[in-house]
Amino acid sequence: MANRIWVYLATIVLAGCSASPSGAPPTPAPGRIVVVLTIDWEGAQLSQDGLDAVDDLRKSLVGAPLTHFVSAAYFTKDTPDPTAIASITDAVHAGDELAVHLHAWRSLAKASGIEPRMSPSFLTGTDQLLEFDDGDGGFDLDLDTYSVPELRALLRTSRHLLEQTHLPISKSFRAGGYLTTPKVLQALHDEGFTVDSGALDHRQLDELKAEVLPARLAALWPKVDTTTQPFVVQTLGGSLLEVPIAAVTDYVTAAEIVGIIDAADAQLRKAPTQNVFVVLGFHLETAAEFAGRLGEAIATVRARRELAGRLLFTTVERAAELARRALPPSK
Ligand SMILES: [Zn+2]
Repeated sequence: MANRIWVYLATIVLAGCSASPSGAPPTPAPGRIVVVLTIDWEGAQLSQDGLDAVDDLRKSLVGAPLTHFVSAAYFTKDTPDPTAIASITDAVHAGDELAVHLHAWRSLAKASGIEPRMSPSFLTGTDQLLEFDDGDGGFDLDLDTYSVPELRALLRTSRHLLEQTHLPISKSFRAGGYLTTPKVLQALHDEGFTVDSGALDHRQLDELKAEVLPARLAALWPKVDTTTQPFVVQTLGGSLLEVPIAAVTDYVTAAEIVGIIDAADAQLRKAPTQNVFVVLGFHLETAAEFAGRLGEAIATVRARRELAGRLLFTTVERAAELARRALPPSK
């Protein structure tokens, strides 16, 4: 019995010692630069050039997962690409995240059982939508033109169509044109999505030479810049976590991406226990032209050993979990 009591007491003492040998509170874990690499599959065309560019990029991203925001419109064209499922399942590797990307393609609206709307374009503000060789359109239709129930139908159908890949589909989302308007947010919440990654600094779109979309983004995300950290957005009946995009390769150079990561590192040095999040994006349909910028930027920062040790590459879903831990508890 005496022995047993001694073991019991020793266990208590040792447990106390391991938690805090000097009686001081435990040292908080160091924060990281949490880098999230995302690709938007626009639903236009699965070109071999684009798919090859993604494969090439992966070779330079060893150990870094991709988050794939995929439009389901590849499945709703008059003549769907028979390789669509295989292309997606080949590109989504173990450890990646597959999530819904929504552009309001006419064919997707029909597949969702709603009447396709024809205006306005988020590029021009007019009813002149971009037309594509296969006869589909709606890529640049402003999602906000649809009602919440119609948006819910588009989201539900997108998710259902992507289930053909038999891959898990996360509760993350990205809107076409980065236009997660209050209506889109409400539809997302009502359909069980928990994370939106769409907020973008409107100044990045200066490259587009389009006036309407930057103005829409400036109104929607007035305070968002390339350093903005995840924040909570409210809807009726709940909230989602917004994980902003720091940069999209189509609109920035590799050097500018490195500059954004350097700025994140400077922020981490100021508050060493708080993660700093950097979400970077590119598109499948323009990957042949622009994905190389992402590979170049990541190779540059990884070559700097001291900085490389502070990088943590992960998915949107996982980054959102990390970000939530640092936010005050929701009411
Ligand atoms: Zn898109």
